[in-house]
Amino acid sequence: MLEIRDLNVKYGHFTALRGVNLTVQSGEIVVLLGANGAGKSTLFRTLSGLQRPSGGSATWNGRSLTTGRPEVNVANGVAQCPEGRLLFPELSVEKNLRLGAFVHRRDASGTARELERVYELFPALVEKRGAPAGSLSGGQQQMVAIARALMARPQLLLLDEPSLGLAPLVVEQVFQAVQRVNAEGVSVLLAEQNAFAALGIAHRGYVLEGGQITLDGPQQALMTDDRVRSAYLGV
Ligand code: ATP
Repeated sequence: MLEIRDLNVKYGHFTALRGVNLTVQSGEIVVLLGANGAGKSTLFRTLSGLQRPSGGSATWNGRSLTTGRPEVNVANGVAQCPEGRLLFPELSVEKNLRLGAFVHRRDASGTARELERVYELFPALVEKRGAPAGSLSGGQQQMVAIARALMARPQLLLLDEPSLGLAPLVVEQVFQAVQRVNAEGVSVLLAEQNAFAALGIAHRGYVLEGGQITLDGPQQALMTDDRVRSAYLGV
């Protein structure tokens, strides 16, 4: 499981995360709701080993995520699909996917198997495998970004705002893909502003405001919570 305890992260004197406690059990989809600037990306960067906390801890199956190099976290089963996708637009879809398997670079046959698996998950990418990633639609690019993270064979997938900038129908397709990934055994922590779609697929969730967790609970409880409904569901 992912276990975050009393996590604090500062940028200089500014405290971006304060006393964050959060867990993701094996097999869960957990949503992290928060407005722009709440600290979602900071949390993900910390879990990826890109940002050092000033206090607290984060572990995946007992292994620290906050003390080693980022590639060690990936090798230990935690992969991030960053906000804004960060694909290499000039490179082909398949080259982008292969870059995700960097930590398994000595295992060519394993990477070939994983490529087949992600093409099964995202059939729309098969005919685009030779096309520059930048030529794909926004939804397809998001699928490439998720597939690239899966190429690292993670047990925990960190998904930062996958619905950003996508039309509602495409958001639905992307979230269905996330559910399929989860059904295949990958735990998911999903940061989103699109609470409606995210709560639709999550088992549990947390609300992050100004760097602090202000609310948490099972999907149904958050869906019907007045604060969530007014702040994130627009009702
Ligand atoms: P968004 O969805 O806009 O990325 P977020 O919830 O992911 O929002 P963060 O990007 O984690 O929020 O930012 C949290 C806070 O930390 C914001 O107030 C932001 O201005 C600040 N912040 C982020 N990165 C830095 C940095 N490198 N230096 C100083 N402050 C930063």
